[in-house]
Amino acid sequence: MSAAAPAAAERPILRERGQREVFCGLTGIVWLHRKMPDAFFLVVGSRTCAHLLQSAAGVMIFAEPRFATAIIEERDLAGMADLDEELDRTVSRLLERRPEIATLFLVGSCPSEVIKLDLARAAVRLGSTRPQVRFLAYSGSGIETTFTEGEDACLAAMVPVLPQAAPDAASLVIVGALPDIVEDQFARLFAEIGIDNVAFLPGRSVRDLPPVGPGTRYLLAQPFLGTTAQALEERGAVRIPAPFPFGAEGTAAWAGAAAAAFGIEELALRRAIAPARERAKRALERYRPALAGKTVFFMPDSQLEVPLARFLASELGMVPIEIGTPFLHRAHLAEELALLPAAVTVSEGQDVERQLDRVRAARPDLTVCGLGLANPLEAEGLATKWSIELVFSPIHGFEQAGDLAELFARPLRRRDVLRV
Ligand code: SF4
Repeated sequence: MSAAAPAAAERPILRERGQREVFCGLTGIVWLHRKMPDAFFLVVGSRTCAHLLQSAAGVMIFAEPRFATAIIEERDLAGMADLDEELDRTVSRLLERRPEIATLFLVGSCPSEVIKLDLARAAVRLGSTRPQVRFLAYSGSGIETTFTEGEDACLAAMVPVLPQAAPDAASLVIVGALPDIVEDQFARLFAEIGIDNVAFLPGRSVRDLPPVGPGTRYLLAQPFLGTTAQALEERGAVRIPAPFPFGAEGTAAWAGAAAAAFGIEELALRRAIAPARERAKRALERYRPALAGKTVFFMPDSQLEVPLARFLASELGMVPIEIGTPFLHRAHLAEELALLPAAVTVSEGQDVERQLDRVRAARPDLTVCGLGLANPLEAEGLATKWSIELVFSPIHGFEQAGDLAELFARPLRRRDVLRV
């Protein structure tokens, strides 16, 4: 942490507008459908959308998948077919085959947006004749979006159907899809801290949604949930400002912010988190020799870039050169921006060619980037880390701090081995 770090509001941000190289929001289905086993995701899109999903979720091929694509054919695009009728037929067939589906997300795509198919209206229509199923709609399109926005859109679509909490019911909601193991660890952590009424959005069942109201305080577990946060605030919930729970100190500050909001004494908090925090610190110590002093460049991709760069700089001594992020939510990232080293460039938006020029000029020890950029950079002798892997892997919290460091250490080790 640099004492000279400018306040979040003052830090200059380089804005980039140009060619983009990202996955679309449909990608989120890969981790969301694992998190919500009683939900089904029906993409209304093209064969390209179906291929993207199948290849992104290739490992699921042997399981009964909980997602599918209703293909919009050329005659649909030409306006020759009644798309509402076709969608009704597809949904009926799906529900006959899969009567266990409790919530069905209709997921929009570029083609459905281009032809202005109103999936929100379709969800209301389908729900009116099938009351046993909850229909929700959101967009996973790649038009001007990046892949983590799919989760934001999905969770925001759930907010209006969250039950209303009693006005005086104080509760904490952790917002952002977390692997079940991490959810369990956080539930135990908050119980030890002394916060009882804790729920997760999304939880493991879309039938069991957390109530929300003016007594609800929410803590973001992911930095890419701007629309969801806004929807929660419209329901009266109040955000607890905090850094994100990456690493020993990030997790301590995140949990500490919740403790302060619930009037827990500092001493009680410290005592509750001390064993896990110490374990995390020890796990990180093992990685410091390999990572300290190494330079890292983040290409804009997952929207996790700012908190991860803070983690690498402040907890492992790495030196971020540039932190690119597709979108920068200044309010949600204020605590993180304040903890970044003063000298680092933060850029928002994408202009892939200019950013690649800067990577080549800087030749960082590690470049965190999208899949499509990793191979060409590796071919140029640069070590890379796929940013999407950081969204798929359990990386939050004290117990995962060492695993998170390992994700950055591994490509450097591999490069060293290749050099020998
Ligand atoms: S939603 Fe758009 S970007 Fe995503 S796979 Fe379909 S066509 Fe491609």
